[in-house]
Amino acid sequence: MSGARNSGTVSQVRHNTEELQRLPSVDRVLQSQAGRSAIDRFGHTATSNAIRGALHRWRERLASEIALPDVQAVATEAVTMLEAASMPSQRRVFNLTGTVLHTNLGRAVLPEEAVEAVVNAMRHPTSLEFALDGGARGERDDHVRGLICELTGAEDACLVNNNAAAVLLTLATHASGKEAIVSRGELIEIGGAFRLPEIMKRAGARLHEVGTTNRTHLRDFEEAISGETGAILKAHTSNYAIQGFTAEVEPKHLAALASASRIAFIDDLGSGTLVDLSRWGLKRERTVQDALKDGADLVTFSGDKLLGGPQCGFIVGRKDLVRPCAKNHLKRTLRLDKIRLAALEAVLKLYRDPDRLAQRLPTLHFFSRTQDEIRAQAERLLTAWQAALPEGFAAERRNCASQIGSGAMPVDTLPSAALAAVPTSKRKGQALDRLAASLRALPIPVIGRINDNALLLDLRCLTDETGFLAQLPALKERAA
Ligand SMILES: *Cc1c(COP(=O)(O)O)cnc(C)c1O
Repeated sequence: MSGARNSGTVSQVRHNTEELQRLPSVDRVLQSQAGRSAIDRFGHTATSNAIRGALHRWRERLASEIALPDVQAVATEAVTMLEAASMPSQRRVFNLTGTVLHTNLGRAVLPEEAVEAVVNAMRHPTSLEFALDGGARGERDDHVRGLICELTGAEDACLVNNNAAAVLLTLATHASGKEAIVSRGELIEIGGAFRLPEIMKRAGARLHEVGTTNRTHLRDFEEAISGETGAILKAHTSNYAIQGFTAEVEPKHLAALASASRIAFIDDLGSGTLVDLSRWGLKRERTVQDALKDGADLVTFSGDKLLGGPQCGFIVGRKDLVRPCAKNHLKRTLRLDKIRLAALEAVLKLYRDPDRLAQRLPTLHFFSRTQDEIRAQAERLLTAWQAALPEGFAAERRNCASQIGSGAMPVDTLPSAALAAVPTSKRKGQALDRLAASLRALPIPVIGRINDNALLLDLRCLTDETGFLAQLPALKERAA
């Protein structure tokens, strides 16, 4: 290098160039014991790529660092990279947010019966669309149709990917090229991606809004009906409540009006529970059976909300209106796979025995846990939590309120209990964010919530206490 302004830099660079030549070769690392064991675990291609990557990083570092890595150091770095890359992107987590049906954490946790059915369906060919009695080729929804009709009193049922798809298919089948009448108080948006007016547009239906945000009357619907009308759509106001000076039309009146006008009355329940939740101390939510009794022609609802099953959407109701949905070509793009159908069948079968439902269905188990029970759990774990917290935090047991989540009963909460970490230092906000990050960095990430200057781990959904306790000691190391 000619014309160097700084001879020190020049010698440093020359020194490092010599060093670079002494870096172990990819082959030497591959042939080392650590290299060979990495090949066993990750395969030859991934291992040599990772070693090349590690060497590249060492080359960059050597510009400032002094020590030349040996074979072992390069191998260790390569294995760390390989382990990080082989970790699944979708990881198991502890949902201690206090929101039982957390859309971002995958909503309902499935019962063991469903897990077993799913593993079986994944591992083997199944009779998905094959009539074992030698009869006509079956339809895949047949595996659950009878059960759904038995449980809900519906004449027929059709299953799709999720409830958004159920609403889409229902409207596309019965209101395409026509108007669908909806109350202005029910033009819902759920989780950003589900906007009723948008779904209606995609289904080819024209939205005819009636009434006002807070009040809609039967005469508004009566006046809106014309030769253009295909359906009246009622939508559950899942994630908000309109309170005060309000009026909405009872579903049975809408049903009667639709019937007299020979159009379909569609009731989108959103969550759609099959049981009276007041039996477990929860607020009574209108059930699918209620909606059908009130005269809805078609009822749509989700599989992974209050029902506690896999992600799917139901269209149930009058046979002469459900069949056209099942026959619509759009159904082919929205249908369920054998894995979810297996899970759904197992979940629905649990509903045949409501007495044991809360023991067997995790979603209902979480909802029905009492505050006393959760408080006792918090008391039990408090010492371990205290010992695990890094410097600068005090451990507490706190009462808190859990939420149902996923747009079910938006204003109702369930009294619960939490392990709390209260920062004792000055920069409380920063300390809490750091602790939350350390919890997320645990082998099984723990997701809590920050509330009132404390980090709360709501224990309502904690079943695997052993797994939770086992990784607590790692928290101090992460935070250090
Ligand atoms: C949640 C919800 C939907 C969407 O259901 P997904 O299963 O999430 O697709 C539609 N309508 C209502 C009223 C809902 O609450």
